[in-house]
Amino acid sequence: MQVDLKLDEEQRQIVAMVRELAQERIAPFAAEWDEREEFPWPVVEAYREAGLFALAFPETYGGVGASAVTQVLVVEELAKVDATAAIILAVQWLGALPILVAGSEAQKARYLPKLASGEWLAAMALTEPEAGSDVAGLQARAVRVDGGYRLTGQKKFISHGAIADVLTTFARTGGPGAKGLSAFIVEKGAPGVRVGRIERKLGLRASNTAEILFDDCFVPERHRIGEEGEGFSIAMRTLDRSRPAVAAQALGIAEGAFAAALQYAQERRAFGQEIARFQAIQFMLADMAMGIEAARGLVYRAAHLVEEEGRGGGRLTTANRYSAMAKCFASDVAMQVTIDAVQILGGYGYIRDFPVERFMRDAKITQIYEGTNQIQRIIIARSYLDLAPGP
Ligand SMILES: Cc1cc2nc3c(=O)[nH]c(=O)nc-3n(C[C@H](O)[C@H](O)[C@H](O)COP(=O)(O)OP(=O)(O)OC[C@H]3O[C@@H](n4cnc5c(N)ncnc54)[C@H](O)[C@@H]3O)c2cc1C
Repeated sequence: MQVDLKLDEEQRQIVAMVRELAQERIAPFAAEWDEREEFPWPVVEAYREAGLFALAFPETYGGVGASAVTQVLVVEELAKVDATAAIILAVQWLGALPILVAGSEAQKARYLPKLASGEWLAAMALTEPEAGSDVAGLQARAVRVDGGYRLTGQKKFISHGAIADVLTTFARTGGPGAKGLSAFIVEKGAPGVRVGRIERKLGLRASNTAEILFDDCFVPERHRIGEEGEGFSIAMRTLDRSRPAVAAQALGIAEGAFAAALQYAQERRAFGQEIARFQAIQFMLADMAMGIEAARGLVYRAAHLVEEEGRGGGRLTTANRYSAMAKCFASDVAMQVTIDAVQILGGYGYIRDFPVERFMRDAKITQIYEGTNQIQRIIIARSYLDLAPGP
């Protein structure tokens, strides 16, 4: 299948607008937010004003209905200056996806317009202390009571967990394994839901990563997404569609680091010449550029396939394979490129005055979240093999 990587006029305009926003309202402050581990509310405000949250939402619910390719272009552009800022959009869309793929009309009407405007923030709470990759092993329980469910359990590492107004989450309503899980919407301030520890991290330091504790939290039946037992499928249908955005985040980080290294290599002098004249540096730059271009092809292709295949709410097949490839490959490239960028800057690469050490720390998470790269490789291999479902 061919994918035209040329942007159309509308995409060019959106990318130009986002680039300007990123340069003016994010880039000058990103290092400080990172240093202070402070969630960047001015970024949320900037996105609200520019209407960026709306991109991934259908027009019927106050969105723009931009294509998946446009969405990844925007995330990529933001990640070139700040991975935390990029993930603010991606997490909003991730948190909303369970409602988009499986929500009732009433749920869509209540939540999507406020999420599209950015008035409310969303988060998706899947991971637990004892179950990350092993989603079918989730232990949070939702017990049926009059009018709804009582939810008890612990969620771990939830992006925007402490600041979200709407949490899409998963708990066990049935027996063990994937078929026992159901999906729910929990609103901020619901009795029995509490924010626990806020994580201190290697990278993505300004992003809010929180523990969520459910203690006999009442969730009305109308807040269950889909049918009982559909939770695992909803989680997978969500991740099938959200991974290209993480891939785009990784791609943007790599591009940001490459740009910094390229500039530095042409300015820094050693042994009487610019270090860019050394073949060792040139080879590193060449490898970085090749990785980035290959990743870009995969990321746009995955997004294009998600757009084509993902119109209904069902599971994706070909698009799922390419989403996993894009996320895995782009994040591995981001890790290598950022390590090389630090190397090209020498001692200055290791110092916080330059952005490349932040890019390197931020790159690492893209190999871990929304399914580790080991899990992505399993998804890719299984998409070619005729095997029974596994992890
Ligand atoms: C900053 C941050 C933000 C996050 N945001 C969110 C969020 O918004 N929502 C959310 O729900 N979760 C979120 N997560 C959780 C994240 O998705 C999980 O940490 C991730 O999926 C891995 O799960 P785990 O940490 O339990 O690792 P484990 O599953 O315990 O894995 C440990 C190691 O074993 C490997 N492994 C596990 N199973 C297999 C296998 N079958 N074959 C080969 N290797 C395997 C893994 O690849 C990994 O290397 C976030 C995490 C972080 C750090």
